[in-house]
Amino acid sequence: MDKRDVALQSSCPVISTPLFSPFTPLERNGERIVLAANGTFLEVRRPWARIVTQVGPALTAKVPFGVIHESFELTAGRIPRALLREFVAWAQRDSEVEIGGIITWNEHTGEYALMRSKSNHATSGSLEYELPTLEEGVHIIVDCHSHSHHAAYFSGVDDQDDMHAVKYAFVVGHCNTNNPSFATRLCVRGAFKNQTWSI
Ligand SMILES: [Zn+2]
Repeated sequence: MDKRDVALQSSCPVISTPLFSPFTPLERNGERIVLAANGTFLEVRRPWARIVTQVGPALTAKVPFGVIHESFELTAGRIPRALLREFVAWAQRDSEVEIGGIITWNEHTGEYALMRSKSNHATSGSLEYELPTLEEGVHIIVDCHSHSHHAAYFSGVDDQDDMHAVKYAFVVGHCNTNNPSFATRLCVRGAFKNQTWSI
């Protein structure tokens, strides 16, 4: 087999859930596809989270697989709301353009931090930005951007941008008002789960 396929298949193997034994979660950081009697799942382990999310239906063939359930554990601990509020304040201060930022988590210190992304080209309806360079052991947990005076929602461009990542995405809209709107979702390699966060 082509070396590239060997590498790709080992980076995301496919397994089935045992029928008679308990399911053993990933023991190291990585990801895999899990075929279960009740659906097709993607299991992801990161230093900051453990995720099992359904990405497809059960096989239509009769298969001797066990059952698993969707789960999400933010092992890094609760994301400080003060950092989200700080990003919202930035977005309101620069409400004429879209801005971007990230909330990171340092696996060595256990600390969250907010960093602003460098805007290369920003208007009220688009944003091209550079993510800050991250040190080893620092992970993007929340990818934040604003929608200027437009509503907060996830656009087709946002879907493309978020397609490959495992992270939260957070959008602030109506930044020119005192009642900004918010949209949040968990992104797991193109599987999007809307979240309701109180800011
Ligand atoms: Zn957007």
